[in-house]
Amino acid sequence: MPISINPATGDIIEEYAEHTDSDIERALGNADLAYRDWRRSSLRDRSDLLMRIADGLEARKEDLGRIATLEMGKRIKEAVAEVEKCAMACRYYAEHGPQMIADDHRAGGPASENFVAYLPIGPILAVMPWNFPYWQCLRFVAPAVMAGNVALLKHASNVSRCALEIERVMLDAGAPQGVFQTLLISSSKVEGILKDRRIRAATLTGSEGAGAAVAATCGREIKTTVLELGGSDPFIVMPSADLPKAIDLGITARMQNNGQSCIAGKRFIVHADVYERYLEAYAERVEAMTLGDPMDAQTDLGPLSTQQGVADLKDQIDRSVKAGARLVAGGEAPEGPGFFYKASILADVPENAPAYREELFGPCAIMFKVTSIDEAIDLANDSDFGLGGAVFTNDRAEQDRFIRELDTGGTHINRMTASHPALPFGGVKLSGYGRELSHEGIRAFMNAKTVTRD
Ligand code: NDP
Repeated sequence: MPISINPATGDIIEEYAEHTDSDIERALGNADLAYRDWRRSSLRDRSDLLMRIADGLEARKEDLGRIATLEMGKRIKEAVAEVEKCAMACRYYAEHGPQMIADDHRAGGPASENFVAYLPIGPILAVMPWNFPYWQCLRFVAPAVMAGNVALLKHASNVSRCALEIERVMLDAGAPQGVFQTLLISSSKVEGILKDRRIRAATLTGSEGAGAAVAATCGREIKTTVLELGGSDPFIVMPSADLPKAIDLGITARMQNNGQSCIAGKRFIVHADVYERYLEAYAERVEAMTLGDPMDAQTDLGPLSTQQGVADLKDQIDRSVKAGARLVAGGEAPEGPGFFYKASILADVPENAPAYREELFGPCAIMFKVTSIDEAIDLANDSDFGLGGAVFTNDRAEQDRFIRELDTGGTHINRMTASHPALPFGGVKLSGYGRELSHEGIRAFMNAKTVTRD
C-alpha cells in the first residue's frame, strides 16, 4: 500500500488505497481512447494546453512545493524552484515543440518530395522516482503531450500525493480525460501493464534494478524504452580553476536535494596543486551546514527521503571507512526523529571501498587527489556509471580533452551539471540509454515516418 511519511519527523502523513486491476484496465482503456483523439489534435492545441499547465503550476507553486517537502523532505526553496522549472519546460515545449517535430524535408531523395514526418506512437508508461517528484514527471510529460502521445504515471510509492497533484494540474488545465493518468500501484503491477498491447513504450528513472526489469519486459514485447538510472558523476578541479567558484558549486552540486540527485557531483577529483586548499575550504563549508526542518528557509540540509536511504548511506560509509577511507567530516546519523544524516566527506578512498564504485545517494562527497590530467580522466572513467560531469579549468586544451575523453552523457565546463529543456539529458554505461528533453527527448517516443511523394 502506498504510504507517505514525513521524512523530517517520521510521522505517517497519509495511506493510499492501491488502484485495483479493474482500475488499471479502465485507465488503459481511457488512454487508448484518448490517444485516438489526441494524436489528431493540432500542434496549436497541444501548445495551448502546455501553456495552461505552466500557468497552473506557477499559480500553485507554493502549495505544490510544500507537498513535495512534506512527502520527500527537500528544502522548501528547492521544492518551489522545482515547480517553476516544470512550468518553464512546459513553456519551452509549447514554444519550440512544433518546430522540433515539423516535417523534415531531405534533399537528394528518389521522389519529388522526400521527408520525415514525426508522429506519435501511443500511450506510454512512465515509472518515476521520488527525488524530483514533479520535475522527473513533467520533463517527460511536456514533450509527450506535444508529440501527441498520452501518458500513464506510476510514481514512487512514497510520493503519491505529488503524483495525484500532477494529475489534478493536468485536468485543471483542460487536458482531455485519459491524456494523463496517475496509477497508484506497486511495482509488481508494472510488468502486466507493459505487456498490454495498448502500451507502446516506457520510460523509467530510478535504480539499475528497476531499469533492467522494465527494459527486460519491454525487450520481450519489442517496445521502446528510455532509461535514466544512477550516476556517480565526477567533479574535476584542475590547477587553473577559479577555486572559490569550484568550492561554491561543488557544495551545491553535492548537497542539492539533500544529496539525492542522480547528477550530483559525487566524486571530487582534484589536482594535487590545489587539493589541500580545496579540501580544507570544502570541509569548512560542510562542517558549517545546518541540518534541520526542510520547511525552514534557514536550513542548509534537510532529511533523506526514507529511513532506508539513511541505512544504505550509513552502511556504505561505514564499510568504506573499514576498507581504509578517511572520514574528514560528518559520518553519522544524529539521534532523534526524522531521517537525517550529517553532511560528510570521505578522502583517501581505496579501490576496494564501496564509495569508490557505488553511488552514494546522500550528502557525502568523496575526495580524490590526482597529479595529471591523464590520471583525472582515467579515474573519472573508472566507473560503471556515465551520466554527467563537471570540470573546472581555465585551460582551453584541458577543457577540450575532458569534453572528448570523459565517458559521460554530459560534460559541463566551469559549471555544475544541470538539465535544461534546450539540451538532451541522459547517460551511457549503467546510467542508462536514450535521451530526455530537447529534440532527442521528444523524438525518442515518436515514429520517424519516411514519406516519399510523386
Ligand atoms: P527505485 O528504482 O526502486 O524506484 C524508482 C521507481 O521504480 C519507483 O516508481 C519504483 O516504484 C519503481 N520500481 C522499483 N522496482 C521496480 C521494478 N522491479 N519494476 C518496475 N518498477 C519498479 O529507486 P529507489 O527509490 O529504491 O532508490 C534506490 C536507488 O536508485 C537510489 O539509491 C539511487 O541510486 C537510484 N535512484 C536514482 C534516481 C535518479 O534520479 N536517477 C532517482 C531515485 C533513485 P516503488 O516506489 O513502488 O518501488
